[in-house]
Amino acid sequence: MQDLKGRVAVVTGGASGVGRALGVRLVAEGAKVVLADINQDRLDEAAADLGGGTIGLKVDVTKEESVQALADQVFDRYGAVHLLWNNAGVGLGEAQRKIWTLPANDWKWGIDVMVLGVVYGIKAFVPRMLEGGDEGVVINTSSTNGGLRSLPNTPIYAATKAAVTSISEVLHQQFLREGGKLSAAVLFPGPHTVNTSIMASRRVRPTEYAGTEPEAPVAYETMQDLVRVTGLKLQLTEPEEVADFAVE
Ligand code: NAD
Repeated sequence: MQDLKGRVAVVTGGASGVGRALGVRLVAEGAKVVLADINQDRLDEAAADLGGGTIGLKVDVTKEESVQALADQVFDRYGAVHLLWNNAGVGLGEAQRKIWTLPANDWKWGIDVMVLGVVYGIKAFVPRMLEGGDEGVVINTSSTNGGLRSLPNTPIYAATKAAVTSISEVLHQQFLREGGKLSAAVLFPGPHTVNTSIMASRRVRPTEYAGTEPEAPVAYETMQDLVRVTGLKLQLTEPEEVADFAVE
């Protein structure tokens, strides 16, 4: 997918922060943007601010039926989706907590939003994206604290974001087996990169996966490399656009 002009892009967690900034960029690239979020007020405000026909649709990514309803609305309206960005996430207020002190419900909440939220997005959108036959991409927002290097002070966040990284890699390999019209990638915003450039990494590349063992180089790549790898004509935010991001 070389050009986002006229393509349909859905960004969960799109009402603020990274998701909203992604929306700004996608609108600038000419995409038809759907921001999806649980926070209706911020969602309406963000959609109005972005302009360019951006719409905001309410979703709770922890509820499969809510994500399915989102997909129904988007496909009814546009007939296709080319970019699904599973980006919704939460800070769990777990700073400095030891694993042996964290209540199971906190784990469940983290897993519901960060892991199942991504899975429900894939389940709701991918079958219809594949059926449509267009080129497209699924991008999942992980964290620098997720799978590549886990930090000790946020155990649930680190574990759930590691799952997001892993799901993205598996998804990409499964897409290749489906013919490669869809690709998957993972975005790693993080405290070290968020104010300069947002980093992205894809550990498995189409050319390196020829039915044999995928290579697993853990190399960060810049957003420009993400563009190269996925063929997505997309460049992320300018520094000032990310200045107010909450740094974990
Ligand atoms: P944010 O809080 O500004 O945005 C997250 C959005 O997700 C919010 O608008 C929130 O309403 C929405 N959301 C939360 N629960 C939801 C649910 N159940 N259903 C639908 N929407 C829901 O945070 P952010 O910093 O922009 O984070 C965006 C993503 O980037 C997250 O996945 C986060 O983990 C990741 N991330 C951010 C940073 C950073 O430095 N900001 C670093 C690493 C990773």
